[in-house]
Amino acid sequence: MINPITGRKYVKTWQADTLWPFLEKHYAWLEKGLSEPIIHAHPLFKVLPDIDSLNTWQMRLGNPAYHKYLQDKQPSSLQGINLVQPYGGFYIDKAYRVDGPALLDASVRRWVNKGCYHKEVFDVSNLTLDKDSIRYRSLRAKHIIFCQGHAISSNPFFRDIPVRANKGEALIIESKSLPRDIIIGHQVNIVPLGNDRYWVGSTYAWEDETIDPTATGKEGLLDRLARSFQGEYRVLDHLAGLRPASKDRRPIIGWSPKSSQVACLAGMGTKGYSLSPYFADMLLDAVINQKDILPEVNLMRFA
Ligand SMILES: Cc1cc2nc3c(=O)[nH]c(=O)nc-3n(C[C@H](O)[C@H](O)[C@H](O)COP(=O)(O)OP(=O)(O)OC[C@H]3O[C@@H](n4cnc5c(N)ncnc54)[C@H](O)[C@@H]3O)c2cc1C
Repeated sequence: MINPITGRKYVKTWQADTLWPFLEKHYAWLEKGLSEPIIHAHPLFKVLPDIDSLNTWQMRLGNPAYHKYLQDKQPSSLQGINLVQPYGGFYIDKAYRVDGPALLDASVRRWVNKGCYHKEVFDVSNLTLDKDSIRYRSLRAKHIIFCQGHAISSNPFFRDIPVRANKGEALIIESKSLPRDIIIGHQVNIVPLGNDRYWVGSTYAWEDETIDPTATGKEGLLDRLARSFQGEYRVLDHLAGLRPASKDRRPIIGWSPKSSQVACLAGMGTKGYSLSPYFADMLLDAVINQKDILPEVNLMRFA
């Protein structure tokens, strides 16, 4: 899910005005190149949990910097749905669902056809750095960019960068009583996937670095779902993953302190789908055209 207005204070997500035009163009370009629907625009109905939230939202409405993301002037309710919404809610514009599996599958198919994709566990100990190039088994290149998620912290080139795994769990449910085109932001986010299926998430945990779904995670999600939606549904699936969270919640891109041939794109945290198009492009521009990297995301801030 991509959402420009986040948190309890309904603030614009960091760099939203820069990231949004870029990601909208980027995903449209990917869809065209991959001939696959990837990004789906959905209004996000944010339920107001109490009077304080109503006041916070009204304060945001008075700020012109929020106008392109907030359209309503009064709170509204979602009709015909058994949603817990005593104070109503408001719509956020420019929210999207990115179909991650479709994006990955179509990208891999394309790279395989072009002969530039090979699936294996990359073993850094087989990487050799020469003066002007790098070698990995039979491959030669000028540079290498590691995109390893939380595993970047065990890469010897990036061992000191502060990225930790943050475990997240989600449910896939089926229901005929939820809106087909609207994302609901409540105690949980309920995101339509099509065919009466919905993604319900998510949890945040630091102590567990396994990718197994847990009974506690499921219970927590079901409890929060029950406090949001009281219609009928059934659980189809339960998923878990590890987010690559950086210490200061900003992406980490740039060169290894050990080599200017080795770079990384890391620390996308909870917002990989909105951050990565823009910052991957910034990193490529640095690698290919020696352009500057924004100091706030430059790996050198931890050097
Ligand atoms: C429950 C949950 C909900 C989320 N919800 C959202 C959301 O609503 N919106 C959003 O934008 N983001 C969301 N995220 C976060 C988002 O998924 C991350 O920001 C994103 O996955 C980071 O992408 P990445 O490619 O940097 O890392 P990853 O997705 O972790 O990918 C890294 C990949 O590198 C591979 N790898 C690592 N080491 C090696 C090696 N040595 N050899 C070969 N392969 C290797 C790993 O296997 C993995 O496939 C969510 C995450 C979770 C878990």
